[in-house]
Amino acid sequence: MFKLSKRILTLILAFMMIISVTACSQETAQEPIVEEEGIFKPGTYTGEANGLNGTIKVEVTVDANNILEVKVLEHKESPGISDNAIISIPESIVKYQSLKIDTISGATFTSDGILEAVKNALLSSGANIDELMKEIDVSSEPGETINKTADVVVIGGGGAGLAAAVSALQNDATVVVLEKMPSVGGSTIMAGGQYNAVDDARQRAYEMRPELIAEIESYTKQEPVNETHKRLMEELAAQIEEYKANGSTYVFDSPQLHALQAFKGGDQVGNLELIETLTKGAEESIGWLESLGVEFHDEIATVTGALWQRTHQFVKPLVTGPIDAYMEYIANKGDDAEVMLNTTATELIVEDDRVVGVKAKQGNNEVIIKANKGVVIATGGFARNNEMVKKYDAHWGGLDNLGSTNSVSATGDGIIMAEAVGANLVGMEYIQLLPVGDPVTGGMQGNISINAANQLFVNSEGKRFVAEDERRDVLTRGLLEQPDQVMWILHDAHEYYNEEVRNDFNETIGQLVESGVVVKGETIEELAINMGVSPENLRATVDTYNQAVAGEIEDPMGKKLLQDPFDKAPFYASKRVPTIHHTMGGIEINTLAQVISKDGNIMKGLYAAGEVTGGIHGANRLGGNAIPDTVVFGKIAGESAALEK
Ligand SMILES: Cc1cc2nc3c(=O)[nH]c(=O)nc-3n(C[C@H](O)[C@H](O)[C@H](O)COP(=O)(O)OP(=O)(O)OC[C@H]3O[C@@H](n4cnc5c(N)ncnc54)[C@H](O)[C@@H]3O)c2cc1C
Repeated sequence: MFKLSKRILTLILAFMMIISVTACSQETAQEPIVEEEGIFKPGTYTGEANGLNGTIKVEVTVDANNILEVKVLEHKESPGISDNAIISIPESIVKYQSLKIDTISGATFTSDGILEAVKNALLSSGANIDELMKEIDVSSEPGETINKTADVVVIGGGGAGLAAAVSALQNDATVVVLEKMPSVGGSTIMAGGQYNAVDDARQRAYEMRPELIAEIESYTKQEPVNETHKRLMEELAAQIEEYKANGSTYVFDSPQLHALQAFKGGDQVGNLELIETLTKGAEESIGWLESLGVEFHDEIATVTGALWQRTHQFVKPLVTGPIDAYMEYIANKGDDAEVMLNTTATELIVEDDRVVGVKAKQGNNEVIIKANKGVVIATGGFARNNEMVKKYDAHWGGLDNLGSTNSVSATGDGIIMAEAVGANLVGMEYIQLLPVGDPVTGGMQGNISINAANQLFVNSEGKRFVAEDERRDVLTRGLLEQPDQVMWILHDAHEYYNEEVRNDFNETIGQLVESGVVVKGETIEELAINMGVSPENLRATVDTYNQAVAGEIEDPMGKKLLQDPFDKAPFYASKRVPTIHHTMGGIEINTLAQVISKDGNIMKGLYAAGEVTGGIHGANRLGGNAIPDTVVFGKIAGESAALEK
């Protein structure tokens, strides 16, 4: 009975379906096919808008309902500073199918420029822009747990972290690098690329002013504070005697002089063993970097606050040379190395008194990385963490009103994670300000300082107020004493000999003048008028400076590194303000980059390198000593971790 009923039912259903399909096909046969209306008219569109330095041009490809691809075709944004926005804003637009994307802080103008250019492109596709501007909800995306294991886990893909990764790989370890931003590089890739190191071959090309002998001898006559200090002074004294006995006239230098200058320049607060490791390592690391394919220019200058003519410059702009070389080395290691972008380390995993791994977040995913041998913390400084800056600053006050030169990623994460597992922190109260920040962003854009020996700093009255070859804290204090806390950097055609000459941030002087960031004059008086300062004052300032350069008078500001007279047109000036630049304090380490605990012991499995550490630069870092710090201690940390038993 049941079987029969079922068969009948099936037949009835089949009959009904035939009728309904016939009815449908009849319906479609009678009416024309109407293509469903899409959001976009399919195609590829271009759009333009202004970024920070000029026009950004994008190309957007859409089908009827989706944004398929966004490409930034052309831009004039500063490399390093804008990289994260140029990579991640197009990715996010495609991922979320929206123009309501958070801008990348630190690259806000670039982010806004890309979004506006994409909007302009999509307008041509007939898109309803209001629909694309609706809030997006990313919180509900499902997450998973990602588990990985490597010999060495490096937190932070900036200069120190990538140097550590390369060095660990060179010591046969497998490596995972965790990087919280959409691209590697951190503050390092934005840096001016000044690298202080003793370099006999290159420094011999320069003559030294005879009066500088007395300057270097003064470093041998200090009251020794410990045995290392005493030994360094004795070694330096012997080197100077030999130099004089040989009748040498080229620029004298040695790792001992470099170390004594860094120690004194940091108010004798730094750890001399670490400083000596830095200055010897800086010299040796030139060869290591060159072996990785990094090229240096042969010219040696004195970056602001470096105190001596030992500043090298990479051939590739900013610090892209070393970062590209590290990344190429890592890429060639195949499965032995992985760089996880957009992955924020949150916690160190400790088992049996040893650091054995790292917990991290990647979007909504949990990431757990076990480290067979060691974890290297290389997360940079904390200049971009207002809370920490306020908490630790003991020497300036009022820093919350200042901008910063740093990458937005410099939020002190590694210091917080290390302290949470018992690491000791040193020198946290020492925060470095620079007097050369951009008045709008606090960044380094438009900073034309290129050689301390040839630059003048003048205030809004056109008068000098400090010796331009001084330490950075002295320079900044001098600026803070000016009524409006605004100054101008002046250079002439001795450095900027044509429109194409670039500053340390890869901007040509021609571009900077065109954009109005830098003013120019064919005479001192014309320059003064364009700066809005008194032509009489500026003329008097320059005349006096030139007399000092000619040796006719003592420089009224006490500047010692005097090179060329300020007399070669055209003349250039760039307006500048104080800005937060470097945090000297951080995690305590020893010369093997092992982290030291609050009770003075070596913390097993934990290493640190770069600006996240403290104790090297003391109360004031010399200009050009931080990039060597990332290379030297990054390399040591990677090797130490890889060789940990
Ligand atoms: C504009 C500018 C110009 C400079 N110019 C010079 C110069 O010419 N010469 C010189 O010697 N010094 C210079 N300095 C200083 C020097 O660049 C820095 O001190 C140095 O580069 C810091 O390197 P780092 O590797 O320690 O940190 P960074 O390069 O900042 O790298 C840290 C990395 O860690 C990542 N990170 C942070 N937290 C986490 C986390 N929780 N999880 C995962 N990743 C994380 C960051 O995103 C970043 O990529 C300059 C600095 C700036 C800002």
